[in-house]
Amino acid sequence: ITDYLWDGIRQSYLDMAEIQFAAGAEAVQAIHMDSAWYTSWKEAKAAINELPMRPHRARIFTAHQMGGCGMGSNPEESVVNGFGEHHHVANLSVHDASIFPTSIGANPQLSVYALAARNSVRLAQKLAAKS
Ligand SMILES: Cc1cc2nc3c(=O)[nH]c(=O)nc-3n(C[C@H](O)[C@H](O)[C@H](O)COP(=O)(O)OP(=O)(O)OC[C@H]3O[C@@H](n4cnc5c(N)ncnc54)[C@H](O)[C@@H]3O)c2cc1C
Repeated sequence: ITDYLWDGIRQSYLDMAEIQFAAGAEAVQAIHMDSAWYTSWKEAKAAINELPMRPHRARIFTAHQMGGCGMGSNPEESVVNGFGEHHHVANLSVHDASIFPTSIGANPQLSVYALAARNSVRLAQKLAAKS
């Protein structure tokens, strides 16, 4: 994580706090191990600017990462086809959330199960037919 990115993360804490106070929040806490609850934008701004931006203090996580190996029919715009088969590497199939073309904008777990079940059954049938 570069200094540029740390600055961006701090700025995102500031922007989120400012938005929440503007919307009427009575108390706001940044997603940082050392953040207290702040009861005014002025207090939050001063405190967030002093938070140490380093691993294990600033919390960075995501729950819905998708699209890393996006599926599609055009190999120039996608990594795998609609069945999770890699466009260029023979015998490589990807059966997880990464093959959604982009974040689907909803809780994805059941869709991941469905896609993986469909594509795994097909892969098993293909492998069985070969042997
Ligand atoms: C905090 C949180 C809350 C969430 N809440 C919801 C929710 O309420 N509803 C919903 O629908 N979705 C929710 N999600 C999203 C959902 O959990 C994921 O979209 C889904 O689990 C992704 O499935 P996946 O199979 O792609 O990856 P994962 O479930 O992450 O599976 C990847 C697997 O690969 C294994 N692995 C990694 N590296 C290796 C390696 N080198 N060798 C062997 N194994 C390896 C990991 O141990 C893991 O078991 C949430 C996610 C998080 C983090």
